[in-house]
Amino acid sequence: MSSPALEIRNLRAGYGDQQVLQGVDLTLDPGSIVALIGANGAGKSTLLRTISGLVKVREGEILLEGKPLQSLPPHKIVEAGFVQSPEGKQLFLDMTILDNLLIGAKNRRARGRREQTLREVFELFPILEERKHLNASTLSGGQQQMVAVGRALMALPRVLALDEPSLGLAPIMTDRLFESIAKIRNRDLTILIIEQNVFQVLEMADYGYVLENGVISLQGTGAELLADDHLRASYLGL
Ligand code: ATP
Repeated sequence: MSSPALEIRNLRAGYGDQQVLQGVDLTLDPGSIVALIGANGAGKSTLLRTISGLVKVREGEILLEGKPLQSLPPHKIVEAGFVQSPEGKQLFLDMTILDNLLIGAKNRRARGRREQTLREVFELFPILEERKHLNASTLSGGQQQMVAVGRALMALPRVLALDEPSLGLAPIMTDRLFESIAKIRNRDLTILIIEQNVFQVLEMADYGYVLENGVISLQGTGAELLADDHLRASYLGL
């Protein structure tokens, strides 16, 4: 049996006296899209930052395709294949779109396949190829988000984590971005996505987890969660 793409067991982490993650367990099947939902401050971004090695693990295990990540520094975690596209994009706005994308392929594993991955990113987001020599500052919010996702793909992730990719986007751009994310699913890649757009993300996701007060309070397939009374009342206002 193959290992899960990502397995997290009893993960505890936080800042100073504040224990944010209080024993989180989650499993991502290879090739799946998994949604992570939770109120503001529930600890979703902290979970991604902990997996990425930016927040220290206090207890528990993080296994990427069976290999422990929790003692590796952030750049080794990227090289191992966990790549995050952070909330708020964090692009270099005074650099070209092409250079922003190429920054993603710095790690050793990604460098050798750089040109091929770039072609794949341009296939996914043709507008970025048309504008590749323009500064990232000239793009709309939705197009900048494409650059952020493209840059993460350039690192050749095994697991791609997206932190609120639809933040600040108009509904039409959100639809397009979700279509692109669904297309990436067909590749040999697992996706963990944090979203406030709960309905839309659960329609797309194979599986979802709800994080409340630092623990997973609810989990199920997208369809199961959409039918759950607590989820509907708390996150969909129904
Ligand atoms: P949001 O949707 O608002 O981003 P979230 O679920 O991602 O929410 P986190 O950003 O992980 O939540 O925050 C969880 C808790 O950790 C909050 O109480 C927050 O104030 C705290 N926190 C987040 N970042 C830091 C930090 N760098 N230093 C100290 N506390 C932090």
